[in-house]
Amino acid sequence: MNILGWTARGDLRDYLNAPFNVDGYTVATNGHYMMIVSLDNNYSENQVPASTYSNCMNFINDIDHNLFKPVSIEHVDIEMCKCPLCSGTGKASSRECEECDGHGEVDLENDHNEYCVECKSCDGDGVVQEVGGEDECPNCDGRKEVPATRYNFQNVCGIRLQVEYAKKISELPDLEAYPDGDKIYFKSGENFGIVMGCREDK
Ligand SMILES: [Zn+2]
Ligand SMILES: [Zn+2]
Repeated sequence: MNILGWTARGDLRDYLNAPFNVDGYTVATNGHYMMIVSLDNNYSENQVPASTYSNCMNFINDIDHNLFKPVSIEHVDIEMCKCPLCSGTGKASSRECEECDGHGEVDLENDHNEYCVECKSCDGDGVVQEVGGEDECPNCDGRKEVPATRYNFQNVCGIRLQVEYAKKISELPDLEAYPDGDKIYFKSGENFGIVMGCREDK
């Protein structure tokens, strides 16, 4: 089990970008799924906020290991397309928008009024992305491709999962799972985890 494949990538909550330890376990999560493996002392307990720590502990304590049943997830196919942000190069860098100095808005005035409008050069982001450079593309994480449709779903144990997440757990050996509310608890050998479902209205 490569726990590093289950962390967030480039998340503003920096502590999610690496595995961390909670009471006897090592955990990796992106906020939508969580993988829990036996303790690896290469990681630290102190890097996450107390609320994250206690959320993890609640999840771990809520799992009923008697409910796991083998499941097989039918072949999950994700149609990919070239990443539009980096044009399929995997590299993109961001720079401050020159038109609005990074504010995302521009002030205009005439003889009668002052106006504040969204900057059209950066769509109000204040940042412009350019193809190339040293940095991994934030849209595809350097993978050069992205799923062709943003929201594809797959039903697993009666829960509607984002297809990327269904694929991720479908690749685990000896997968067992059970649904609980809007989430699925899953297990693969010694390792276990949680994946959140998506509501219909998304
Ligand atoms: Zn701008
Ligand atoms: Zn990209």
